[in-house]
This record gives sequence, structure tokens and C-alpha cells, in this order.
Amino acid sequence: MAYKKTEHYDEDITAKLSANYKDIIGLIGEDPQREGLQKTPERIAKAMQFLTQGYEISAKDILNSAKFHEPMSEMIIVKDIELYSMCEHHMVPFFGKAHIAYIPNGWITGLSKLGRVVDVFSRRLQVQERLTTEILDVIQETLNPLGVAVVIEAQHLCMMMRGIQKQNSVTTTSAFSGEFEKQSTRNEFISLIKADLIRRH
Ligand SMILES: [Zn+2]
Repeated sequence: MAYKKTEHYDEDITAKLSANYKDIIGLIGEDPQREGLQKTPERIAKAMQFLTQGYEISAKDILNSAKFHEPMSEMIIVKDIELYSMCEHHMVPFFGKAHIAYIPNGWITGLSKLGRVVDVFSRRLQVQERLTTEILDVIQETLNPLGVAVVIEAQHLCMMMRGIQKQNSVTTTSAFSGEFEKQSTRNEFISLIKADLIRRH
């Protein structure tokens, strides 16, 4: 049988969230019974559970599930990791890219696992600054490398759609540990994430 994707939602939580979203739809002046909106509360209830599933997943377990002994100490960089999160102040999305580097000290992890770590912390209510340091900390704690660097560039819909309405502003946050606290190592990382080695579409 072909690959089948299944999603599981907690029925009780889905029912409670749906009831609350039905109220919200009424409170903002809409008619929750209107044809187009009848299934909306349940859709939002499921979407919210999907978008906040990171609370139930351990980033540490993900990194440990593909941790390999490897006697190398060259910088490993994964850049342009897509990121979708939600700001904890307005529960409105922010999205962008994460760039991660580390210098192994005997242990490496699967490259795809770094992307999954970004997902785990993104699928929670977040602020970009904490998201950045949480990714750094779990890599540092799990792989004990010589250093970790994380840079996140993101656009915040709560700024773009409301408030100051700065349409094109990009917020950049960064966190560095170990070797990356040295200017020369940090510069190497920054120039590599800026470099267009393979033409990107
Ligand atoms: Zn916000």
C-alpha cells in the first residue's frame, strides 16, 4: 500500500477548542452558522494543535536518535532551514530562515535532524530571541560540540499586518557558543551563510 499520512488529534481538546473558536467567530461580528464558517472552528482547532505540536516532542530525543561518533572538527553548516512559528504576544505567524553551524567534538548528528529541531521549537508560542537560544542550547547540551552558532532571519506578521506596518522589515537574531565566540570563527560562519555556493532558486 502506498504511503498514507495520518494525523491524530485529541478529540476532547478538539471539541473544547472548536467551542471556543465558535464563540470567537461570533464575538468578532461574524455568524458562525454561515455556510462557509460552519466547519471553521473545527479546522482551526486542528490547525492549532498541529502548529503547537512542538510541546510534545523532545528536541533532545531527535538529536540523540541520530548521534554518531565521528572524529572530525570541521565546521558543519546547515543554512536556509525554513521556519514557521507563532509569536506569543499576538498568536500571529512569524516565518523565515534559520542557519545553524556547529564544530563537532567527537559527535555529529544527521543533518535533517537540525531541521527537525527547528520545527520542534517553532511549533510552540515563541519569541524569535528565545527560539534562537533554545536551538543553540539543545545542540550544545546533546552533542557537546566545540561551538554552536544559530542565526534566524524572520518576518513577523504581527508587525506587518497591524501595529507599525513595516512591510519589509526582517528581524535577525543570533546566538553563539564556544568557538563561535571568537570573532574569526564567527566571521567564517557569517561569510559561509552569505555565500551563494549553489545557485539558489
Ligand atoms: Zn507579535
